[in-house]
Amino acid sequence: MAIKIVEEEIKNPEEREPPGNVIFTYIPEKSSDESLQNFVLQQLQNSGIGRIDGHITSNEEKVDASHDENLNLYIDRHAADEIIEHCAIMAKKGLEALGFLVGDLYIWKGERYSVVHEIVTGELESTAVSVKFRRDEFENLFDKLDEIEYDYVLIGWYHSHPGYTSFMSSIDMDTQSRMFNREFHVALVIDPINLEFKAFRISNGKCIEVPYAVFEE
Ligand SMILES: [Zn+2]
Repeated sequence: MAIKIVEEEIKNPEEREPPGNVIFTYIPEKSSDESLQNFVLQQLQNSGIGRIDGHITSNEEKVDASHDENLNLYIDRHAADEIIEHCAIMAKKGLEALGFLVGDLYIWKGERYSVVHEIVTGELESTAVSVKFRRDEFENLFDKLDEIEYDYVLIGWYHSHPGYTSFMSSIDMDTQSRMFNREFHVALVIDPINLEFKAFRISNGKCIEVPYAVFEE
């Protein structure tokens, strides 16, 4: 898919203390798989979906990822809910989900961090193992971005791997480096069947799994 961002204004990040009411934190290699699964399951139960069966086989090839322990990504609980719900609803149909992460950048004590406030998605051309926006949906999608009433920053994107775990494939890496190549840009990969929700960035061409925190406003 070829999205080109033609005009992008660089905002000066606002000085603000990171969200205080954190309800879940995931740190790669440190947090247990169980705590992550419990969190995702809880969100699925909250939206009345619960556990989903089945799995889809994919030949998406996993790229090696190192990990980072610095927490500088915060996700509003409502956005996390919507992401998990979207991925689960699509997974029930045997399909992948995809959307944009919209939010803002802040700075606190000299450290930058990003906050995902909401998501934007549209009609998808989806199969079990690949997903893209319908051609005629692009306009719609950008209209939806236009409807956002604050000066947002595109923080990154999310997509699902229903049943084949959360990782970055070489195709995902390609999408990330073409479309989301700023230092703060993030890719969330969600497996609503195995209850995984992981965050990745690219730094110096390498894939890095990064920590995130989910907070309540
Ligand atoms: Zn993928």
